[in-house]
Amino acid sequence: MTAYDDQNIFAKILRGEIPNVTVYEDDDTLCFMDIMPRTDGHCLVIPKTPCRNVLDANDAQLAAVMSTVRKVANAAKTAFGADGVTLQQFNEAAGGQEVFHLHFHIHPRHEGVSMRPAGTMGDMDAIKAHAEAIRAAL
Ligand code: 5GP
Repeated sequence: MTAYDDQNIFAKILRGEIPNVTVYEDDDTLCFMDIMPRTDGHCLVIPKTPCRNVLDANDAQLAAVMSTVRKVANAAKTAFGADGVTLQQFNEAAGGQEVFHLHFHIHPRHEGVSMRPAGTMGDMDAIKAHAEAIRAAL
């Protein structure tokens, strides 16, 4: 398996080298808003320690990340009055992964509403307001 590259964008976020809109943080995990949100409330949960994805993560990393995913997913569902939540997680380029630090996407979902296409920058004021709504529900 390819080695972890500490120049990936999420490693830079963890080191504070580039900004992020933080939703939740504990000793082992960070949750922050996706800058190209495919749903209102689209956020990402990552471990604070390095691994590329699920394929090389250790049990402690996975346990910590899933605990935070459950916590934030429930808060996001409440914050947006959502009917459900979609989790996305991609492994290696062939699996759809673009940033090679393990992450889970959290998407609050409403009946009959499709996710937006990937790759469009979001409005930062809206992203910050959505983060605040999730934080308030935590
Ligand atoms: P994936 O690796 O799961 O295919 O996609 C990576 C995700 O990271 C995408 O949803 C993309 O919008 C998001 N992303 C890429 N660069 C940044 C960034 O600099 N900051 C934040 N917050 N999200 C990013």
